[in-house]
Amino acid sequence: MSSFFDKKIEFLRGVGAQRAAILNKEINIFTFGDLLEYYPFRHEDRTQFQLISQITADMDAAHIKGRIRSIEKIGDKFKQRLVAQFTDGTGDIELVWFQGVVWMEKRLKENSDYVIYGKPALFNGRYSISHPEIDPLTQENSQQGYFQPVYPLTEKLRRRYIDGKMISGWMKTLIEQATPHIRETLPVSLVKKYRLISKQEALYHIHLPLNFDTLHQANRRLKFEELFYNQLRLVMQKLTRREDYPGQVFGNTDLVTNFYENHLPFELTNAQVRVVKEIVRDFRSGRQMNRLLQGDVGSGKTIVGFICMLVAIDGDAQACMMAPTEILAIQHYDGLKKFADLMGIGIAKLTGSSKKKERTAIHEGLLSGEIKILVGTHALIEDIVQFQNLGLCIIDEQHRFGVAQRAKLWEKNKRIHPHFLVMTATPIPRTLAMAAYGDLDISEIDELPKGRKPIVTKHKYDSHRLEVFGFMRSQIAEGRQVYMVYPLIEESEKLDYKNLMDGYESVSRAFPECQLSIVHGKMKAKDKDFEMQRFKRGETEIMVATTVIEVGVDVPNATVMVIENAERFGLSQLHQLRGRVGRGGSQSYCLLMSGVKLSADTRKRIQTMVSTNNGFEIAQVDLELRGPGDITGTQQSGIIDLKVANLAKDGRILTVAREEVIELLEKDPDLLSPENAPVKQQVGNFSDSDTYWSKIS
Ligand code: ADP
Ligand code: MG
Repeated sequence: MSSFFDKKIEFLRGVGAQRAAILNKEINIFTFGDLLEYYPFRHEDRTQFQLISQITADMDAAHIKGRIRSIEKIGDKFKQRLVAQFTDGTGDIELVWFQGVVWMEKRLKENSDYVIYGKPALFNGRYSISHPEIDPLTQENSQQGYFQPVYPLTEKLRRRYIDGKMISGWMKTLIEQATPHIRETLPVSLVKKYRLISKQEALYHIHLPLNFDTLHQANRRLKFEELFYNQLRLVMQKLTRREDYPGQVFGNTDLVTNFYENHLPFELTNAQVRVVKEIVRDFRSGRQMNRLLQGDVGSGKTIVGFICMLVAIDGDAQACMMAPTEILAIQHYDGLKKFADLMGIGIAKLTGSSKKKERTAIHEGLLSGEIKILVGTHALIEDIVQFQNLGLCIIDEQHRFGVAQRAKLWEKNKRIHPHFLVMTATPIPRTLAMAAYGDLDISEIDELPKGRKPIVTKHKYDSHRLEVFGFMRSQIAEGRQVYMVYPLIEESEKLDYKNLMDGYESVSRAFPECQLSIVHGKMKAKDKDFEMQRFKRGETEIMVATTVIEVGVDVPNATVMVIENAERFGLSQLHQLRGRVGRGGSQSYCLLMSGVKLSADTRKRIQTMVSTNNGFEIAQVDLELRGPGDITGTQQSGIIDLKVANLAKDGRILTVAREEVIELLEKDPDLLSPENAPVKQQVGNFSDSDTYWSKIS
């Protein structure tokens, strides 16, 4: 069905074919509807004018009415700039253009009045504004000010003179035509209950706000709607899956009891016990489980995974655990094998480097049911790997895997699909978890095992390196091991590589008595593994590495983590790295090295690291600093595509929206009531791929 909103953008007055092509390519705007939903990310307050006499250099922007007295071109042909003297009677400033000189010169007239907007700068004792926005003074813009929406624009758009002003112009035209076509998308009862403005009003005021209040109302309304539908989609997926997919029932706990009584080397934390119970309840429900297990680094997710495997095995099923890297897979395997051997349970490891002969044996063992637990990398998902009866899939550090890979695991038991337990590498805040994984049940381990000594974290400037080396030396003298981590990002790979090598050199000079390991991204997987293993066995004292060691590597004897150029790491990355130490009984340390010049955000990151070890708190700060798009995992998952809501700030709206969604679906699961007609209409627009992929969490 073609509607007003499907009309091609080139047919909007003022756009045309050429600009339409740029809009298509640069910002994915193809239709009237796309443009209407292209929301500004902030608004500039131009409701007031400033006087030139009031200008200061620290103003973000000034909005001034005045007159151009003179215009001249300065400089030679290739470096020309256009300079206009501008006055409002209280003082003079210069307006300067370095680009588009010829085009601007044609547009400007001496002794004419204009409204300008831009950031003032002080230069040789005079104020100037370069590349100000400038419009002829009119009845309209001289009377009252306005809010200028700021749209996310690209450099290419700007170069073709498609700026905020131009988009606002199109919006005016578009909204006038669109208004009669805009339908309410929320049930009337919700609009009333939360005193929301209508969809029509909201679209108008988000693009063309009259004042603070209308802008705020528009934002609130659109946020609510966005989060409501985000949750509706997820909760519906969850319900559909419940109805459609039965799960194997695992009710026996003899094996687990045996394990608890005879082999468990420590006492489970209360949180671990609670999570095991939640999972076992799912196993008994007769429905297929899709659960997310969140827990901080070192909170003991692996053992919880193993216990669940035991319950599955007790129910005559098999279990697998998939890790994102070979190192991690080996580590999990080693950890699980200790327990499995005690219990006499068949366990195998399958990775990219498994030999053909081993593979064949594994394939047979899985089919015969002799192997109960398979641990590995994505080698697990190859079609040739078939199970007798796969009942439980555990995915560790989930963000590294795409949905399609999980789909393959799901298909490994066609008779009755396996239960899924997904473990996060580090916790993510509740709001983010709800918005990204609201279709899963969520369990949290929010408690560390008893007797863990919190890691002591300190910030050190590069100039204190000798002191840091001295500290490392004292720890090594006590028989401990040390990590030194360097950043590595693709853009400056060469430089970073040099940095790493220089660091390695200086460490080897400073510690001639020590054995060093080095691991970086340019090494072959085999060589990396070799070095990691050497360090793990304690044959080397210092591991110099790039972030390749980030995920999950466990060397309990390592007690010092030195992070070089800490300013270049994200918060969750720093936290992950720190989690590599503090794994044994001894006091551990994390030293964050940086230069002296740091941005406010960087200071906040480092200060957060120094002040807390709690991954949930750290994740919350990370969310506030960076927004959800950058947080590990959710970006690749592509699940969150929020345009107006901000998960760092709108947690309250999200919670309310979820509650309303659940209530609505309980009362009217098929959306048959007339009141819910707008909801049904929206659901019809959810794309099919959503529902397909949702089946496999
Ligand atoms: P993560 O949640 O980061 O995957 P792990 O499962 O690797 O954490 O556990 C970290 C370490 O803590 C392991 O050596 C594990 O054996 C140990 N551990 C787990 N649970 C407990 C507990 N309840 N008491 C003591 N040690 C525990
Ligand atoms: Mg782990």
